[in-house]
Amino acid sequence: MDLAESYVKLVLAVGQHDVDYVDAYYGPAEWKTEAASAPVPLHEIERRAAKLIAEIAAGANAPDMPDSRRRFLSRQLEALTARVQILRGRRFTFDEEARALYDVTPPVNTERQLQDVVSRLDGALPGRGPVPERYVTYRNQFVIPPARIDAVFQAAIAAGRERTAHHVALPPNESFVVEYVTDRPWSGYNWYQGRYRSLIQVNTSLPIYIDRAVDLACHEGYPGHHVYNALLERTLVRERGWLEFTVYPLFSPQSLIAEGTANYGIELALPGVERNAFEREILFPLAGLPPSSVDEYYAVQTLVRDLSYAGNEAARRYLDGEIDSAAAIEWLEQYALMAPTAARQRIRFFDTYRSYVINYNLGQDLVRTYVEHEAGADADRRWAVFAKLLVSLTLPSSLSELHA
Ligand SMILES: [Zn+2]
Repeated sequence: MDLAESYVKLVLAVGQHDVDYVDAYYGPAEWKTEAASAPVPLHEIERRAAKLIAEIAAGANAPDMPDSRRRFLSRQLEALTARVQILRGRRFTFDEEARALYDVTPPVNTERQLQDVVSRLDGALPGRGPVPERYVTYRNQFVIPPARIDAVFQAAIAAGRERTAHHVALPPNESFVVEYVTDRPWSGYNWYQGRYRSLIQVNTSLPIYIDRAVDLACHEGYPGHHVYNALLERTLVRERGWLEFTVYPLFSPQSLIAEGTANYGIELALPGVERNAFEREILFPLAGLPPSSVDEYYAVQTLVRDLSYAGNEAARRYLDGEIDSAAAIEWLEQYALMAPTAARQRIRFFDTYRSYVINYNLGQDLVRTYVEHEAGADADRRWAVFAKLLVSLTLPSSLSELHA
């Protein structure tokens, strides 16, 4: 059997034990049917993965396989093995798991460092009293009224698409539909379906703040996950016939690149000044919010963004068993400035996706450093480096070498 086919079948086999594992699959339908009708036990999957890694290393069956493809496939299989071991009951620490699954070592942020950022917000927020409560109260003024959510999102998606299409040749007929759902552990999700189509779901259980419109539109759509998956399909699957990319295992190094580029894609598509103008002229009026508050709101958001690693610290302590969920919620309220309901949703996310949390902010930082190092300040060059990175099979550890 071909190496790519063996890999796809192993990923599909893990999916029979782990409902969150197969994020996308658009390869041959019979492979999926086969995985469902003849489940492979976890220990056997582990044995087959080890054998496949050895075959790839030996260059068996595919002497003409480029090194980048071989390395990527092999690292994806190492992560698959780690995920199987977790499913079999092996305990990893948060940091060990991040290294095994995502090919990076998460940084550590001390409580002191986070407290310093919180203190900086003291001067930027109106009113008096503890910063966390004040921030929640302040941000509540910027909720998109439910009846206007779709109009606001569609405008944000159109803006992301226009800017992306200006720099990246998108496949013909690419498109996605947006669906509004409730009661999920995440705020948005892109389900890539193949043939350049995605289903994007937006969770409306919690209030949606105005900044989430551009963030979600770019992250899930343009130039984020939808574009990432569509370019992989066109460049690797259709042009080169590399069938391993018809499957996307969620708990793998691929996810650091996916989440990192999706998050960096927000600031690439709508850099600060341009974003504020768009929010002021288009989105705030559509949401019925006062355009005069745009600059202040985004100045505050920029400071709050420096607290994104507070969530990773909560996850690390909680998943390593140092604190319980009540203490993790308190930490998220204190240092990630989350409202209690949002903090509870976040614990559900930790329970489901575990160290996956690092892919968002660490991924974004690694991608930003890489793109800016390669392209400098020129916007066109940044887009070119970004688009190339999406399909380059770069492993997270190669990005972080540059970062260090
Ligand atoms: Zn994402």
